[in-house]
Amino acid sequence: HHSDVRTYRVAIIGAHGVGKSAMVGQFMSSDCINAYDRIRNDDTDPESVFVMLNGEESELVFTYCSNIKVEMNRNELPDAFVMMYSVIDKNSFKTTEDELARLQNWDALRSRAIIVVGNKIDLVRSRAVSTQDGKCLACAYRAKFMEVSVVINHNVDELLVGILTQIRLKEELQ
Ligand code: GDP
Repeated sequence: HHSDVRTYRVAIIGAHGVGKSAMVGQFMSSDCINAYDRIRNDDTDPESVFVMLNGEESELVFTYCSNIKVEMNRNELPDAFVMMYSVIDKNSFKTTEDELARLQNWDALRSRAIIVVGNKIDLVRSRAVSTQDGKCLACAYRAKFMEVSVVINHNVDELLVGILTQIRLKEELQ
């Protein structure tokens, strides 16, 4: 089954500790998206999730690492990059700035979905990166922007749907 379902690769890029693996775990355990259809987990691949959006099902396969692999071939680039930092860690924001600059050098920004994500907004009193700074960075690269909290599950389903929406938009523009 799933033969007519398109599969997209999503790379989650961010410094150590920003919450990449926690986020993928949360994606996997999502069983309902408000206002959208159902999500289904695939038992055979723990890093993959099926998302139903606008009556069409797609599979998202996640990989995560702390930086964009230099040896990554241009033709093997993932369909989407989730550029993740922690709002309580200024260094992680700097890492995201650096990695976005590298993506730009590869000319990947035009052809791929890019979403800048600030995580850990539940830690209000420790915040070190403002919402405005995050927005400005995303805007400079014409990327989508979202703030989330993986542990309190704030905006996580919205991010998952947002990733697929951006991928489909880019696909239409090709
Ligand atoms: P990774 O190195 O980017 O994969 O980060 P992890 O997923 O291992 O998360 C690092 C730590 O941050 C773990 O202790 C997580 O529980 C914690 N963490 C992840 N997301 C959040 C969040 O939204 N809020 C808080 N307070 N902690 C988080």
